[in-house]
Amino acid sequence: MRQKIVAGNWKMNNTYDQGLKLASEVIHMVQDEVKSDVKVIMCAPFIHLSGVSKLSQGVAQVHVGAQDCSAKEAGAYTGEVSASMLKSVGVSHVIIGHSERREYHAESNTLLTDKVKQALANGLTPIFCCGEPLEIREADQQNAYVKQQLTESLFDFSAEDIQKMIIAYEPIWAIGTGKTASSAQAQEIHLVVREHLAAQYGRDISDNISILYGGSCKPDNAHELFSQPDVDGGLIGGASLKSRDFVDIVKSF
Ligand code: PEP
Repeated sequence: MRQKIVAGNWKMNNTYDQGLKLASEVIHMVQDEVKSDVKVIMCAPFIHLSGVSKLSQGVAQVHVGAQDCSAKEAGAYTGEVSASMLKSVGVSHVIIGHSERREYHAESNTLLTDKVKQALANGLTPIFCCGEPLEIREADQQNAYVKQQLTESLFDFSAEDIQKMIIAYEPIWAIGTGKTASSAQAQEIHLVVREHLAAQYGRDISDNISILYGGSCKPDNAHELFSQPDVDGGLIGGASLKSRDFVDIVKSF
């Protein structure tokens, strides 16, 4: 049985106090309302992580994630935050390869391999993002595009390592645009991702890897998306900034 997961990506939003208020609301609502075994992850900006992690201590269902980590272990890398630093403040997950990092920070598939290595070496679970831009979707090349992203960044990892990862499929044309992939489109490419993992690592392993959908997922479309057999939850941007919307998404399975 694959783990059901809903992760919120706050991006660069909220002051420290606003972030702690949001986290506290989510934690209370999850404790009061969420009866299923879904794993909830809040991926906050770096400066919020220590505070959010203290608030969520002892709440087994709620986990804290970062939105990026350095590809380096330590040293003279001004402005960077290492995976071991994240671990030291109670972070358990880290988004790697979000399309905004790929685009605005020119993160390549090979750099992402190094980030995943750092995450794993420090006991963090990578939430590895893949997904195609609009022109690739319009040319109907999305399957090959996403497969290449996975192959180039992840396929040198061992079977043991790949099982420690979460994959997030996020079509760039659906991120923050209000334009969601249809549930059929999501299922189709999630299956492509799963088959691609199976071809490299075997079906038993691939069947156990959670693949999340991201891209304008909201309370009113989450259930339809999460009902697809290969959609194991969501990576939520905009709607994760409102506690009520985020927890309603968590309750959508
Ligand atoms: C994201 O950026 O990971 C995302 C899914 O954003 P949104 O939900 O706002 O489309």
